[in-house]
Amino acid sequence: MRHIGGTGLRPAAPAGGEGGAVGTYHGGVTASKRVLLAKPRGYCAGVDRAVQTVEEALKLYGAPIYVRKEIVHNKHVVSTLQAKGAIFVEENAEVPEGAIVVFSAHGVAPEVHEQAKGRNLRAIDATCPLVTKVHQEARRFAADDYDILLIGHEGHEEVIGTTGEAPAHIQLVDGPDGVDKVTVRDPSKVVWLSQTTLSVDETLETVARLKRRLPLLMSPPSDDICYATSNRQDAVKAMAPNCDLVLVVGSQNSSNSQRLREVAVDAGASAGYLIDYASEIQDSWLEGATTVGVTSGASVPDELVMEVLDFLAARDFTDVAEVTTAQEKLVFSLPQELKRDMKAQATARAAEVAKTLS
Ligand code: SF4
Repeated sequence: MRHIGGTGLRPAAPAGGEGGAVGTYHGGVTASKRVLLAKPRGYCAGVDRAVQTVEEALKLYGAPIYVRKEIVHNKHVVSTLQAKGAIFVEENAEVPEGAIVVFSAHGVAPEVHEQAKGRNLRAIDATCPLVTKVHQEARRFAADDYDILLIGHEGHEEVIGTTGEAPAHIQLVDGPDGVDKVTVRDPSKVVWLSQTTLSVDETLETVARLKRRLPLLMSPPSDDICYATSNRQDAVKAMAPNCDLVLVVGSQNSSNSQRLREVAVDAGASAGYLIDYASEIQDSWLEGATTVGVTSGASVPDELVMEVLDFLAARDFTDVAEVTTAQEKLVFSLPQELKRDMKAQATARAAEVAKTLS
């Protein structure tokens, strides 16, 4: 049987971000086999909202519900929603005219909303509010005629969506090596923004390099890398130095999951692996290991992490201790357009019941 205990955390100085840091693991490595389990891990508020949006839309309107792009970057979540009646498409053009389409948590460019209107689609926008915040910043700085340096990964859906807000003003900086290619019109009127799911440390390095080239570079009004990304990286940094290897549950196309694997190795784990399912763990990875770290990306349901713990327990890694560095309480409400229809349905049902009883 799996037992999850604490780590005997020694209080650490509070850090910023949602919930703040509450402790750091300082325990020594023992000979027995054990698992350090990062907390926070898994679902963030934006993913929870996006997945719930599709589930509620299926309940309210019935299947099929069309979803443009993967609602979140996780294989398991996508296949579970497919089984319930969601149809995932790449573009609005694949959605039948007049049907309902949900836009993913990563956000879309304004032209995607226009296309939806052109096809008479009923769009429900599940863009994470923290991505919407970056879109708003992009629009505001573009309206003030700033050059905007968007730090992010080329081709990522979030970057495509944000760039679409002001394509004439935004240029992509894909990590520290992209800094030398930057050209601006007026070095005194430049701001940097970023994708929400980047490595905090690598982004700091990119910004430092940009500032060496452009000393008057402005920073965004508040952090664009979201609380969930930073908190999950902090937890991995706390546990990785004590781990022989770190298993990150997440899909290959999940930016924040990929970053967790990199952060684990940079922070001192001897190895890091990104896996969708426990069945992908190779026994050779565990040879000679006494401490295995486990975490998961922001789009990963915790049931997949529990399956990893079961896999490890079957190989004598039965002692599981959580390494907690922050408490998260953030919750986002469902998209307005969906809430409005849910309320209308509830009112209609109540009226029907009242009529039956009268
Ligand atoms: S990772 Fe951050 S930005 Fe992305 S959905 Fe979650 S909370 Fe929103």
